[in-house]
Amino acid sequence: MDHYVVFGNPISHSKSPLIHRLFAEQTGEQLDYSTLLAPLDDFIGCAKAFFENGRGANVTVPFKEQAFRFANSLTERAQRAGAVNTLRKGMDGHVLGDNTDGAGLVRDLTVNAGVALKGKRILLLGAGGAVRGALEPLLAEQPAALVIANRTVEKAELLAHQFADLGPIFASGFDWLEESVDVIINATSASLAGEVPPISSSLIQPGRTVCYDMMYGKEPTPFCRWATEYGATHVLDGLGMLAEQAAEAFYLWRGVRPDTAPVLAELRRQLASA
Ligand code: NDP
Repeated sequence: MDHYVVFGNPISHSKSPLIHRLFAEQTGEQLDYSTLLAPLDDFIGCAKAFFENGRGANVTVPFKEQAFRFANSLTERAQRAGAVNTLRKGMDGHVLGDNTDGAGLVRDLTVNAGVALKGKRILLLGAGGAVRGALEPLLAEQPAALVIANRTVEKAELLAHQFADLGPIFASGFDWLEESVDVIINATSASLAGEVPPISSSLIQPGRTVCYDMMYGKEPTPFCRWATEYGATHVLDGLGMLAEQAAEAFYLWRGVRPDTAPVLAELRRQLASA
């Protein structure tokens, strides 16, 4: 039996064991997957001990940057993101670091929701780790423009500078924006405080603009409620991104791509009854 874990602290809330158990059942892959609470001051020691026998791992808050440093080699998208959410031990004992968060977001938007991003004007709210992971996959879709808006504008400016070679990317403050866009992605953690980033409702063109919140919950998030109120054509939360980033990791480990639809339906069902 091959061993996989998700590292985090805290970690007991993680849905990853359920997701990967369902993927393994569906594909007939023989593996076990559990949570691993890494000490805040010794992720590296914990990861080294796990990889004595372990085959792969997911990594969540607050260890993605440390996992980036732990990996022996990196995929291009992990290199760009500066953070790793997936580790895979190869036959030679080397550990590869990948970042599947952005690919999960793009797949949820383009495949599950059928939203084409090519030629679109995309507004990304936030400039933290999730945005860093999303920029390369989003720019690969060839949008007409990708604007990063953040409370701390300097962080958005730094990201726009670092990714400028990949496409038309710009930085902004929340209150500089007025003209409507095609897609708004909320990657701030404002929803945790029950807040919506202070952006103008004129950014939504009713019946046209798609709004996506990376956060999810039992009830619609504050951002999703705001988007619905102002007439967004599609309002989506991040549960699909969660399932898709996991599927991408599963594919990296096992070479088999699971069908996320039944797993996402089960996640939604469990969330509703929680
Ligand atoms: P970080 O802590 O790295 O970044 C947080 C961002 O939110 C920063 O840009 C910060 O701005 C901004 N922010 C925080 N509070 C507020 C507020 N009250 N108003 C406006 N902006 C605010 O977090 P991550 O990038 O890792 O995660 C961001 C969100 O994405 C989280 O909600 C997380 O749960 C979600 N996520 C979902 C995933 C999924 O699979 N569905 C995967 C990864 C993340 P500033 O720079 O000014 O501090």
